[in-house]
Amino acid sequence: MRQSQLFTKTRREAPKDEVAKNAQLLIRAGYIHKEMAGVYAYLPLGLRVVEKIKKIVREEMDKIGGQEIIMTALQRKDLWEITDRWSDEKVDVWFKSTLKSGGEVGFGWSHEEPITEMMKNFIASYRDLPAYVYQFQTKLRNELRAKSGIMRGREFVMKDMYSYCIDEAAHKKFYNEAVDAYTRVFERVGLGAKTFLTFASGGAFTQFSHEFQTLSDAGEDTVYVDRAKKIAINQEVLSPEVMNQLGVKREELEEAKAIEVGNIFSFGDVKSKQLGLYYKDESGEQKPVILGSYGIGVTRLMGTLVEVFADEKGIVWPEEVAPFRVHLIEIASDNDEVKNEAKELYRELNEAGVEVLWDDRDARAGEKFADSDLLGIPLRIVVSEKTLAAGKFECTLRMTGRVEYKSLSELIGHLTSHV
Ligand code: ATP
Ligand code: MG
Repeated sequence: MRQSQLFTKTRREAPKDEVAKNAQLLIRAGYIHKEMAGVYAYLPLGLRVVEKIKKIVREEMDKIGGQEIIMTALQRKDLWEITDRWSDEKVDVWFKSTLKSGGEVGFGWSHEEPITEMMKNFIASYRDLPAYVYQFQTKLRNELRAKSGIMRGREFVMKDMYSYCIDEAAHKKFYNEAVDAYTRVFERVGLGAKTFLTFASGGAFTQFSHEFQTLSDAGEDTVYVDRAKKIAINQEVLSPEVMNQLGVKREELEEAKAIEVGNIFSFGDVKSKQLGLYYKDESGEQKPVILGSYGIGVTRLMGTLVEVFADEKGIVWPEEVAPFRVHLIEIASDNDEVKNEAKELYRELNEAGVEVLWDDRDARAGEKFADSDLLGIPLRIVVSEKTLAAGKFECTLRMTGRVEYKSLSELIGHLTSHV
């Protein structure tokens, strides 16, 4: 893509009311647009990042047997009344509205109830199980506080998966597979070293629910980390009994702020019994289906990546989620030779299947470099009179600042060797 054609522009200042680093940088760099507190639109660059994250999550969910669907944003009141989660006292993030024809509807903040109700159409026998369904959906939540930028939106993209199993053993097996799939997702997006499987409150069978918490001072949660065991305990359940049970010692735990990027949960047979999702086993006996629920905050994850990797100059994307792999900067002034060289490199990179943003704008070098630092694309390649004379391109890694000089063939070889 040519940067001169990108309708978004970088800006020096974020809106005054924006206090979160992630949103400040993402707005300044033109990835997102702030509609109102907690509500953000995703612009071309931002959407590319969201899609990259979704692709990774989708691949991992498909690998464990997930089938993708999209449920509705408008939800039935009666379903949530059955499970006693309609009232604002029980669920404090509901957005609700009324139909012109009469009656109330809720705006989906989660989907256990409607998905489970829907699955009644498809699950009747043990032969219909297991079933794993997931979606990427814009959830609507009337969050009281919205000061964490895209990490706590009133409107945000979540991946939610639901598992339907015949019994506790089958459920536990899948639950563990989901833990592994989540671990791979966080590794692939570049957060493996900072993300910990965390024991938290809630859950049927399992005593705990499990969160995936990424260490960051921007986090709203407090966790206690055992780095050697690669686990953490949410403050809400930290007690001598729990530490004993998990085989950890208080003096070995490190207190840290963290961001909840994912959450997995066993519902056991509770929801199935409430909503009437039963199957007939081999002997014809009616049994409740065992339900699990698995969330990843896709847009929160994007915000987390900014919080974790950004430096004083701007955003720094890990390669797997970056909007482009290469930021090609031409420093041409009026030099046609440089322009042609940049154009040729752009063509070659595209041909080699490398995603590249080409800063072909008529702007000063300083401005281009500052913008490039702000945008955070992993590899910057400079084409200038200097590089032309040297016969090599200047290649700088945004993450480490390391500079290398490469000929065209070295560059293409390097970029295509691990695409
Ligand atoms: P939190 O404790 O942060 O309020 P939650 O426990 O209510 O989150 P879940 O209902 O388990 O969250 O949602 C699954 C995932 O969706 C969370 O782990 C988080 O990553 C993400 N998420 C939840 N609320 C928001 C929000 N308001 N904005 C962005 N992402 C969110
Ligand atoms: Mg939570």
